[in-house]
Amino acid sequence: MKNLWNSAEAAGFAGDIGQRVYTSRLIGRDPSLVLHGGGNTSVKVGERNLFGDEEQILHVKGTGWDLAAIEPRGFSPCRMAHLLRLAGLDSLSDVRMVAELRGSMTNASAPTPSVEAILHAIIPARFVDHTHADAIVTVMNTPGGEDRLREIYGDRVVIVPYVMPGFKLARLCATLLPQKVTPRAIGVALMSHGLITFGETAESSYARMIECVTLAEEYLSGRGAWKVEWPAAAAPSRPLRAELAAFRRELSGAMGAPAILTLHADAQCLGFARRADVPALSQQGPATPDHVIRTKRVPLVGRDLAAFRRDYERYFSACAPGAGPRPAMLDPAPRVVLDPEWGLVTAGGSARDAAIAGEIYRHTIDIILRATALGGWRALPAGDIFEVEYWDLEQAKLRRAGQAPVFAGEVALVTGAASGIGRACVDSFLRRGAAVAGLDVSPGIARLHDRPDFRGIVCDLTDEAAVAAALEEAVRAFGGLDMLVLNAGIFVPGKGIGELGTETWRKVMSVNLDASFVMLRESHPLLRAAPRGGRVAVIGSKNVPAPGPGAAAYSASKAAVNQLARVAALEWGADRIRVNSLHPNMVFDTALWTPEVLESRARHYGMSVEAYKTNNVLRVEIASRDVAELAAELCGPLFAKTTGAQIPVDGGNERVI
Ligand code: ZN
Repeated sequence: MKNLWNSAEAAGFAGDIGQRVYTSRLIGRDPSLVLHGGGNTSVKVGERNLFGDEEQILHVKGTGWDLAAIEPRGFSPCRMAHLLRLAGLDSLSDVRMVAELRGSMTNASAPTPSVEAILHAIIPARFVDHTHADAIVTVMNTPGGEDRLREIYGDRVVIVPYVMPGFKLARLCATLLPQKVTPRAIGVALMSHGLITFGETAESSYARMIECVTLAEEYLSGRGAWKVEWPAAAAPSRPLRAELAAFRRELSGAMGAPAILTLHADAQCLGFARRADVPALSQQGPATPDHVIRTKRVPLVGRDLAAFRRDYERYFSACAPGAGPRPAMLDPAPRVVLDPEWGLVTAGGSARDAAIAGEIYRHTIDIILRATALGGWRALPAGDIFEVEYWDLEQAKLRRAGQAPVFAGEVALVTGAASGIGRACVDSFLRRGAAVAGLDVSPGIARLHDRPDFRGIVCDLTDEAAVAAALEEAVRAFGGLDMLVLNAGIFVPGKGIGELGTETWRKVMSVNLDASFVMLRESHPLLRAAPRGGRVAVIGSKNVPAPGPGAAAYSASKAAVNQLARVAALEWGADRIRVNSLHPNMVFDTALWTPEVLESRARHYGMSVEAYKTNNVLRVEIASRDVAELAAELCGPLFAKTTGAQIPVDGGNERVI
């Protein structure tokens, strides 16, 4: 493992807090050290308070901050004296501990300190770094792991047996460490959990972390247990979307809320899922208790969700005898699925959670196989894992996550998503927590957003094979389809029927009508499998109820789509799919309305461009965002009992009213 310390770079970070920020980011940058908000760091600083008294303050990583992107305000300033007194208590609930940690802060608006704050306070050094490094966890999780650590580090690393993170761990360290930390010590190994290193400077504490992890890597490498190689394997080429969507519906039922499912079908995931010993290897438990909330204790091998549920109920009653009914938050739905055809499928309440589960499990695969090569993979007993899963603090975290946005775990597909109303729809659905697949013929769609809950897919909607491929890609990324926004359309301006060529007519029909029909037909099996019922929002036009001269092809195509949507509402009601239409007018911030078109339409009505823009009953301008927000609301609970409706978004039009 490479030491990334760079003196010139480090010099740009002033003071103890600056140095703390710099090496925290170096640690956060390496996923084999910490993953997604995992790990924590601290520095102890003498500070003068408002009254002129000198106080020792522990600046420890605040919860919700990722080390890779941490800022000075991401550290919580806790009074050392208070933390050390807490460490001396015989017992303290973790909920009370967190309240005490908050109460120890010199700045009430700082983030909640890491639950490992007391542990950081006990370590007798200024800078403390804590990771769950893959190589260390690998060596720990083997029979005789403790002896192996002694062989690697001698007395330079103090070994602490596994106890539940939180107050119990802090308490144990407070009794063990004063006797065990000698001047030679550079770190503390927390069995089945991770590694702490410390030093008087940020540089030395970080360098010791890298040194310890490198030694573990070399130990593994020297025993043929480091390199993991995979035979080349291709992702399944047959369409999986119908099966994935049906599987997602069943899994969402077990989870109690819609889930995002992400397929990982590369050489590593397929290679692991196809190993003959995968049932035995994968069913032991996670690499560290830190992972259990994202991945559950074990993956589902195969697709038998009912069997997973039964196993989970058994695990719950074995680990929590007499605990009464299972809390709803401990749902019996897997977050990781290993299937020989699919590879790895990860699930979560959002695209981000599914992505994190995927990244964690990729690391878990390597850890399991390296430990197996070293002498055997051995995870914590189920009871210890359960204790973390059942932990009141984790439960509180889940409860907060329970206040989820309205479309959490749901998937929307928007056509014509690169600009105008489509692009605004992408934003409106993302803002409500949906994962969004945006389709557009413009290549720019691929780069519209760089975030785990958006997938931009280049697609010519008039090509049926391309539409099928786009749906397949969207479902492999997010697991299914709940909401469809039919928005893509073209407008050919300014020609009367007498001058309108057949080619132009056919082109408009092909994009606005035929492509909408194909998309609806191909989406139907997916929408039918939506956990909360499918929804379709059709972006129509004022031209449907009130056509204008000079737009024959456009008006006729939109009227036909309108009729198509009404039939879909009738046909699909029994499948719990709602189909509603919006009729916008005068939305000028779209690609259709080039300055020339605007000019020509204004001239047609004998108006200035300015007067034309607000030429409606309410005298308001209508923006793409207004239409997009209504499209999203149409898919939400407010319209849960509405289908086949047509709603104008036009500022009021005299011919329509
Ligand atoms: Zn930890």
